[in-house]
Amino acid sequence: MPKKPVILDFDSTLCAVESLDALASLVLADDPDGAAKVAEIERLTNLGMSGDLPLSESLARRLATLTFDRTQVRQLVEELRHQLTPGLAEDHQWILDHASHLHVVSGGFVDWIAPVLTPLGFPAEQIHANVLRWNTDVCIGFDQEHPLARNGGKPEIVQQLGWAPKTSLMAVGDGISDLELKRTGQVDQFVAYTAHARRDVVVQEADMEASSWSALREILEEAWRE
Ligand SMILES: [Mg+2]
Repeated sequence: MPKKPVILDFDSTLCAVESLDALASLVLADDPDGAAKVAEIERLTNLGMSGDLPLSESLARRLATLTFDRTQVRQLVEELRHQLTPGLAEDHQWILDHASHLHVVSGGFVDWIAPVLTPLGFPAEQIHANVLRWNTDVCIGFDQEHPLARNGGKPEIVQQLGWAPKTSLMAVGDGISDLELKRTGQVDQFVAYTAHARRDVVVQEADMEASSWSALREILEEAWRE
């Protein structure tokens, strides 16, 4: 029997932080109002993740606060490489061995997620995320039409990926946008990943909870044995 495909979230799942919050800290480091702006961005992140604010609005309001260029995105990539969920970077061989079953679907941005994850063995074509828009080296916004820029985007992407009907899928994540995969019936098993953020609403509706990368690895290996 083919192994079950797994849909993995990035922010606060494969990565220990919310990458847009990390970008905000980096970009606003020298801004006199930086601390207040970062706090506001974190608040908007949480409202989006808990479902209290539409994802599209949360994303647009956060990005509108930030002016940044490609050099700062490269700095963010370096930073995120050191802020992966503990144990992930050491599991390079495991990732390579299981790469064909691992799909990343994130409401973050492919502009930094791909450079962080592909060296670990995640196939670039299996990473789906939002897309920034650039004017040469300066970011001028993001593709607001991308499915992942709105609520319900993750189920939409998984549907577009076109697995055969009745293919059993599994999803892993910490946020409401991940839980939507279960609520819409796109996946039959959902694992709440709580190593970095634990949201009651997500945990309550999850089939399982993993509080570390090693615990998640065990759950996946068990699912692949079925
Ligand atoms: Mg997340």
